[in-house]
Amino acid sequence: MYDISIIGGGPVGMFAAFYAGLRNADAHLIESLPRLGGQVSALYPEKDVYDVAGFPHIKAKQLVAELTDQLKEFAPAISLETTVQTITKEADGTFSIGTNRGTYRSKAVVIAIGNGAFAPRKLAFDYDHQLDERRVHYFINDLEDYRDTDVAVAGGGDSAIDWALALEPIAKSVTIIHRRDQFRGLESSVEKMKASSIQIMTPYLLSALTETNDRLTIDLKKARTKEDASITADHLIVNYGFTADARILRDWPIDIKGATIPVNTNMATSTDLIYAIGDVVDYPGKMQLIASGFGEAPVAITQALQEIYPERKQPLHSTSLIH
Ligand SMILES: Cc1cc2nc3c(=O)[nH]c(=O)nc-3n(C[C@H](O)[C@H](O)[C@H](O)COP(=O)(O)OP(=O)(O)OC[C@H]3O[C@@H](n4cnc5c(N)ncnc54)[C@H](O)[C@@H]3O)c2cc1C
Repeated sequence: MYDISIIGGGPVGMFAAFYAGLRNADAHLIESLPRLGGQVSALYPEKDVYDVAGFPHIKAKQLVAELTDQLKEFAPAISLETTVQTITKEADGTFSIGTNRGTYRSKAVVIAIGNGAFAPRKLAFDYDHQLDERRVHYFINDLEDYRDTDVAVAGGGDSAIDWALALEPIAKSVTIIHRRDQFRGLESSVEKMKASSIQIMTPYLLSALTETNDRLTIDLKKARTKEDASITADHLIVNYGFTADARILRDWPIDIKGATIPVNTNMATSTDLIYAIGDVVDYPGKMQLIASGFGEAPVAITQALQEIYPERKQPLHSTSLIH
């Protein structure tokens, strides 16, 4: 039984999990994606963020790296690729948290799901899904997995370009395939890509994938023409962005307002011991900013601990904690 389960491993959930550890709570952080960082990792890892206190500016992925280091300090339990489906209040007042990987028990819950569960946009045509994670990838975990291989990257946004550029010095070859002639990435990144050895195939749409002789054959159709093309590669990295789905909120035992959760000044929802923080909450003056969420996390954790352990002394300053 955990003291506090935090649903959503975006920046706000990560900081909440760290803060819960700082306050000696047994915390569990649950994230549906295979990696932490929420929108910051998934949507703009290469962008500079200018409004996080203490950093004049910081690259988004660096901010997630710093949050990860901070989080490790108290080693909370972290469940990745785990999507919370149900939250049930049991007769003893604790919660059962139902996920795609089993049920967890917790004394309190902090919801930090942002705009909802993220999922990568998949290829639109049918293909053999046994190729997933072996030859077709929707996430890159380690660039080294692609060393000396031929890699194709599908997509035309910042993230696709950034991955192509990051892979170029490591892979044997990198080909980027985009359905339009114009890329949507930062101009400087597009220029860097054009000046690099990355092969650019535009305007092409992917139409089929087959594996032959340990290689992937990627069939392409040139946009607005009947022209077909085909390339072979060891890996295909698909970077078509993410979808967010907050519909699950409707099944949880709390009042909601559209895709948001109304909270009071204690970050409490309509149900005792369920709190909400970050982009998902609604209160007068709410700003969907990382800094706002960082302020909400200590409030929710402190309130949860006060309710679970009313007898515990609640220190206010981290400088007064010995660890
Ligand atoms: C392009 C862009 C630029 C931005 N620039 C800035 C900026 O410069 N400064 C700034 O302060 N803010 C910026 N923001 C906003 C900022 O990213 C958000 O305010 C912040 O990410 C909110 O954090 P969060 O942890 O509340 O939610 P998210 O980052 O959305 O994280 C929520 C996490 O919860 C997970 N999740 C959802 N549902 C479930 C479930 N059922 N089970 C398990 N896990 C679940 C999701 O997969 C996700 O990882 C920007 C946003 C965008 C899109």
